[in-house]
Amino acid sequence: MKCVLCRNGETQNGETLFTISRDRVAVVVKNVPAQVCQNCGEAYVDDVTASRIFNQAEELVKSDNEVEILHFAA
Ligand SMILES: [Zn+2]
Repeated sequence: MKCVLCRNGETQNGETLFTISRDRVAVVVKNVPAQVCQNCGEAYVDDVTASRIFNQAEELVKSDNEVEILHFAA
């Protein structure tokens, strides 16, 4: 699809890093499948993937650590 941010690039299948902040815990989710703009690097995550991220991160936001790193599992 066409990138809505720069309006120049086309997106392609790729991976991105997704960060969720909740209170004092930041969950960094790696290897998230996304459509990535070849021009500006903007990443687009679809709704299904986003809800999976939140499901997988839900336990970790209760952690005592300030930062948790999660590898996305499809
Ligand atoms: Zn772009």
